[in-house]
Amino acid sequence: MGIYTRLNALVPDQSCVLCAQSAKRCVCHECESSFTNHQPRCRSCAHSLTGGLDFCGQCLAQAPAFNRADTLYDYQGAIADLIKAFKFDQQLCIGDFFAHKMYDKYLDIVNKRGAYDAIIPLPLSRQRLRERGYNQVHELLRMIAKQTDVFIDQTSTQRIKATRALSGLNLIDRKQEIKGAFSAKPMSYKKVLLVDDVMTTGSSMDEFSKIVLKAGVGSFDVLTLARA
Ligand SMILES: [Zn+2]
Ligand SMILES: [Zn+2]
Repeated sequence: MGIYTRLNALVPDQSCVLCAQSAKRCVCHECESSFTNHQPRCRSCAHSLTGGLDFCGQCLAQAPAFNRADTLYDYQGAIADLIKAFKFDQQLCIGDFFAHKMYDKYLDIVNKRGAYDAIIPLPLSRQRLRERGYNQVHELLRMIAKQTDVFIDQTSTQRIKATRALSGLNLIDRKQEIKGAFSAKPMSYKKVLLVDDVMTTGSSMDEFSKIVLKAGVGSFDVLTLARA
């Protein structure tokens, strides 16, 4: 047995949070291989597309305020369960698993499209922060913060209105509900990356982008962990 094999054998196994099989991290390889990321996606909002189109109907009707969005997973099945467990049951080992994946994706994006002046996580309201005890988006950025020197700006933007859950609302009601939810201090970044955990219709991110744009940021892309 070589030294690396022996060292590897010393890493304690834990069980996969999804299937309970032994795993090196929170999620085993088998479960991870069931996570999907359907291609092609809308070049603007990352919505999954079926035909040979470049943009989804919603973006063709009205382009979102951000340049383009990337995502790691389709928000469905095991990945949706995993994200819910991470957000609501505070299973931080899942956060660690996702933070590594976000870091890999971030390097990939920077390689393709160049560096960002800052990363801005979508802010939580104070009330939500009190309920949960932490902002899960900050957890997703932990590896990026540790391994790179990009500035993660957590103070220039705020969520000033606690909105109802948007999941049960139609598009028009979502837009109405999210209006006025964010505020931002003046910023002089040329290019930033906005990050959130899940994007469903994109209403929150679109509203947030408008506020960031008004605050003086030149251009911005979006990265989310999962996309509905
Ligand atoms: Zn598993
Ligand atoms: Zn789109």
